[in-house]
Amino acid sequence: MKLLKPQTATDEHDEPALSAQPLPPLPERRRAPRTWETPPAPAPPPHLDDYQTIVGAAEIDELRFLARELKGKTVKMVNSTAVGGGVAEMLNRLVPLLGELEVTTHWDVITGGNDFFEVTKAFHNALHGAEYHLTRAAQEIFLAYNEQNRQRMQFPEDMVVIHDPQPAALIGSRKQSHARWVWRCHIDLSTPNQQVWGFLRPFIEQYDAAIFSSQSFARQLPIPQYLFYPCIDPLSEKNKDLDESFVQKVCDEFGVDRSRPIVTQVSRFDRLKDPVGVVQAFKLARKYVDCQLVLAGGGASDDPEGAVVLKEVKEAVGDDPDVIILDLPPWCALEINALQRASTIVVQKSIKEGFGLTVTEALWKGKPTIAGAVGGIPNQIIHKLTGMLVHSVEGCAYQIRYLLTHPEFAAQLGRNGHEHVKENFLMTTNVRRWLLLLRVLMRDRTA
Ligand code: UDP
Repeated sequence: MKLLKPQTATDEHDEPALSAQPLPPLPERRRAPRTWETPPAPAPPPHLDDYQTIVGAAEIDELRFLARELKGKTVKMVNSTAVGGGVAEMLNRLVPLLGELEVTTHWDVITGGNDFFEVTKAFHNALHGAEYHLTRAAQEIFLAYNEQNRQRMQFPEDMVVIHDPQPAALIGSRKQSHARWVWRCHIDLSTPNQQVWGFLRPFIEQYDAAIFSSQSFARQLPIPQYLFYPCIDPLSEKNKDLDESFVQKVCDEFGVDRSRPIVTQVSRFDRLKDPVGVVQAFKLARKYVDCQLVLAGGGASDDPEGAVVLKEVKEAVGDDPDVIILDLPPWCALEINALQRASTIVVQKSIKEGFGLTVTEALWKGKPTIAGAVGGIPNQIIHKLTGMLVHSVEGCAYQIRYLLTHPEFAAQLGRNGHEHVKENFLMTTNVRRWLLLLRVLMRDRTA
């Protein structure tokens, strides 16, 4: 990979080299964005050969070669949601591609009531380090729903992959299956709440292997651990190339003015994504450079915490006409793609993060990206080379201001970011890792 060092670079702690300039008058208030109420028909999934133009024929041939001795093997993926969030996004592509390689892959989603998802959301936050007191009632809810799912599910496959903590206790079925069981952890376990991790750990230790998204996420475990970077699909609606006319149409519908710089963060309305911090950084930067902020998120309507965070964001924005808040339903991939492509800069100012697929998506689109140095983001953003890492509202504000006033440096970051993703974080690389793991686990089984 050839990453060119941009000509100039700055630290958030460097002496600011910019002086305040008068801002042009603010535009007229925008009209309210349209909301999409029904999901469009899903696009047919791409075939392996469709990736050739992006990654080259040799990489596709390698996948076919690796899959040859796995023909007829079966895999089950289990997670807790079919739409929304990075895991579902990835499984949507991975499952058919493995199928095309004749590794039949089933995808099951566990079911649960609101009480279950409240508990697992609290577990998720606690595993990211949030304060939390684990009660007996929460443990019982977790176990009861896992048991209910376990009773209704069968595990006849050769490999069962359980994603994240929500279905982790399905491992109780291991004895009745001949499968190799893998726990795929997408979250940052580097500083987990000890009560929750202490509760989950005995389940995890029963797996044959665990997979983490970054070296820094892993825990000491008595089972083999593998590093799988998450990935994006360059052919998905979220990432494929778009006609300029479509990008313009989406901006027009949302009231985004393309004649002025656009700073965007795409994220669920979640405190760990720090949308309020983004608003504060934007307001600081805009004192010096003209720009608009787009906060495109989702999930606020079906997540009580999301609705509270959205309210906090609106309060922080006040009546600022340069901030456009979009609470989008989960099927707006094309619109998110268009907003990312229309952006001058993409921000992902997370305080805690899994891998941060929104960063991958932005880099793939060649966007100069500013992101919190947390979770898997430093795997993607090499500071000053493929993007800018920040640690504070002020740092974020400074980098927004710097990149908007140094467009050549920003453009080189974007080009480097694109190359970095192409090499490390595309779906085809991920398929290769799964094939290799399956080969290893099948060999272990016969050894
Ligand atoms: N996303 C989306 N709609 C939204 C917000 C996010 O489709 O309103 C997508 C986003 O483009 C990315 C994924 O959801 O593909 C979020 O993954 P990430 O790893 O950044 O964060 P997570 O939500 O999984 O913590």
